[in-house]
Amino acid sequence: MFNVVEFFRNLPKKKCHRCGHDMNEKADCYGNLCDDCDHPAL
Ligand SMILES: [Zn+2]
Repeated sequence: MFNVVEFFRNLPKKKCHRCGHDMNEKADCYGNLCDDCDHPAL
């Protein structure tokens, strides 16, 4: 049977699509950009 927990554990770390930095898990709701690149002023 498919183990969902193992599936998420094996996912690669999310990286910012602009600068390539590792993203915090909390950044999930911000799409594919890190906090710096997703700054409203940019
Ligand atoms: Zn970034």
